[in-house]
Amino acid sequence: MISLRGVGYSYSDTGRPALEDVSLEVRQGEWIALVGSNGSGKSTLAKHLNALLVPMQGACFISGLDSRDENNLWKIRETVSMVFQNPENQIVSTVVEDDVAFGPENLGLPAEEIRSRVDKALRTCGLTEKTDKAVYTLSGGQKQRLAIAGALAMGSRCLVLDEPTAMLDPAGRAEVIALLRELHGKGITLVQVTHRLEEILDADRVLVLDQGHLVWEGTPAGLFRIGDIDKRWGLEVPAMVKLRERLVTAGLVGRDTAPTAEGIGEALCL
Ligand code: ADP
Ligand code: MG
Repeated sequence: MISLRGVGYSYSDTGRPALEDVSLEVRQGEWIALVGSNGSGKSTLAKHLNALLVPMQGACFISGLDSRDENNLWKIRETVSMVFQNPENQIVSTVVEDDVAFGPENLGLPAEEIRSRVDKALRTCGLTEKTDKAVYTLSGGQKQRLAIAGALAMGSRCLVLDEPTAMLDPAGRAEVIALLRELHGKGITLVQVTHRLEEILDADRVLVLDQGHLVWEGTPAGLFRIGDIDKRWGLEVPAMVKLRERLVTAGLVGRDTAPTAEGIGEALCL
């Protein structure tokens, strides 16, 4: 789906590049979590995935299309949609269904096709009941789900989400992660940027960025087995992961226990 080959990017001539020699592949239907401390280059990398930025060194191919070729921009942005941190910045209409219809309308699709895409996207994102409601009545989590519905209505097969839960309360965060799980089940490719490691448990693969370099890749469980990811890369180990490690060491739960309140509770009660 996406292939980066030796990508380098700098915002200025002086100082350290924001990205250096980054190579990676994202397969169709894969759920990738991209993690790293503040300033490690996550947003810069995310913006390369739908050609908001183009590489200064190396190349980036999306569905085989070279992002350096301007003729490919539309096709790339139809394939890969970005969802940003602040849901307010992504809303273009005052009514929920109009907001979702905005993208397909700009594609010049027939009215029937637009209606069917809007209804389907709202259903997938659990917003059917909000169809004719004013956007300002939505919660933060619902607004992020609305942004995702807009991307789906455009026909995007891949979503790049840059810290989509950063501005949400715990309920909103849980809603968005539950929706990602659902989209993954439907075969949508996901690149999820986050610094909250408790949100990456369902990802197929984790990529760690540190100072513009891709320094590690593996499974979420594999990442949590590394003892010192805080010291190495400035990543914060989630409390539930720490708790599980202590319970495993004490012989109270198995290694395969999910590092969530539910998983640990279940393992202890059985
Ligand atoms: P992250 O998303 O992991 O916090 P970024 O990709 O935003 O990291 O930033 C990577 C590096 O590039 C940081 O050193 C940051 O200060 C710098 N940077 C990011 N955006 C800009 C910009 N628009 N102009 C100048 N420097 C930038
Ligand atoms: Mg960022």
